[in-house]
Amino acid sequence: MAKLTAPKLTNDCFALPAGVDWTPVDTALSMLRERLKTVVPEQSCVVSEACSLILARDVVAMRGHPPDANSAVDGYGFAHAALQGDGPYELPLVHGRAAAGVPFSGSVPQGSALRILTGAALPVGIDTVVLEEDVNSDGLAIAFNGSIKAGSNARKGGEDVQRGETILHAGRRLTPADTALLSAVGVAQVQVFRTLKVGVLSTGDELVEAGEIAETSQIYDANRPMLLAQLHRWGFEAIDLGKAPDARVVLSDMLDEAAQSCDAILTSGGASAGDEDHMSALLQETGSLAMWRIALKPGRPLALGMWGGVPVFGLPGNPVAALVCTLVFARPALNALGGAGWTEPQGFMVPAAFEKRKKAGRREFLRARLREGRVETFASEGSGRISGLSWAEGLVELPDGNVEITQDTLVRYIPYDLF
Ligand code: AMP
Ligand code: MG
Repeated sequence: MAKLTAPKLTNDCFALPAGVDWTPVDTALSMLRERLKTVVPEQSCVVSEACSLILARDVVAMRGHPPDANSAVDGYGFAHAALQGDGPYELPLVHGRAAAGVPFSGSVPQGSALRILTGAALPVGIDTVVLEEDVNSDGLAIAFNGSIKAGSNARKGGEDVQRGETILHAGRRLTPADTALLSAVGVAQVQVFRTLKVGVLSTGDELVEAGEIAETSQIYDANRPMLLAQLHRWGFEAIDLGKAPDARVVLSDMLDEAAQSCDAILTSGGASAGDEDHMSALLQETGSLAMWRIALKPGRPLALGMWGGVPVFGLPGNPVAALVCTLVFARPALNALGGAGWTEPQGFMVPAAFEKRKKAGRREFLRARLREGRVETFASEGSGRISGLSWAEGLVELPDGNVEITQDTLVRYIPYDLF
């Protein structure tokens, strides 16, 4: 019999504090942070295929970088201790040269110099290199002016990375530059997490697919393509679960099937408490529903819960609210589930090119973009305006308290890609 293991997430992992009418964004985030754990297994991967995957273990340099002292330029190397006074200097040349990958095998006597090229290991007897452009040579000796510091134009062994040093930590999503670093210190294989599989399901009787004929009263499904594209961009495996009608049995069957193949599920629509809000009703039946009423604009109730052991994020149907809630809540949650640990959006303070007042109570996110060092916001705050989502390149985050913004007030801007 297979060994039983405890579930990684508990059924109440989305529960919010009881008795609170509107939960502040930060409270909800700290709950997620506390309860969500990595749900994917780790596996070995060659470095050449590991870019965009999440490291499961710290990585230690197998070799220093550079491995040995070498020349940073094309020029002539010598022992600095042999230089007398402030120059000009003249040093006899030793026959031969040192080049990258083709070291000089002998040693260079003190007071002599050797032709040396960029990347060549410094031979015994050389600690300093003078640039070729600063030298006159007749092939037998070199002459150059002072002063020159000991160790000039020479790189020390391990000055960049020491052998045995931890170069990258578990939880890091590997970048192209990381693959250079790993390769440079001799690491060919790393332990990574299997990519988190995230399913996307749209719900609603009104939905048809772009490319199909839409009757009056029907609308094109905008959320599913948006969420699939966003997940793909974040490096998750995005699984298209299609769209479900407002029919509880069908939706329930689709969720059953999705739970077999996904590590997490994002749904949109049907997440409130109305007659046709089947997502929240189904999660309620499992006993795991947490109806999130977050003090956030835009955002309606979110229905979170567990289905067949898989966390479900029931996003609002409204595309603007769906994307904002995905960026604010699903992004860090999915990172945590996928092994990246808890991540914070990287916003920065920029002068406003707009004016706005808001009352205390809710955190607000405005569709925004940077132009000439100032942040401008979309003309309409209407939550149905998909064109504004597309016009924007990020969001301005206004704090929970009351706010009065005039031209050039500093506001927090978070580019979409830095959530
Ligand atoms: P709901 O949360 O199901 O009540 O939907 C709220 C609003 O969002 C309604 O106007 C829906 O028609 C709209 N909506 C729901 N799902 C989608 C979707 N996938 N794409 C575009 N609009 C949607
Ligand atoms: Mg609906």
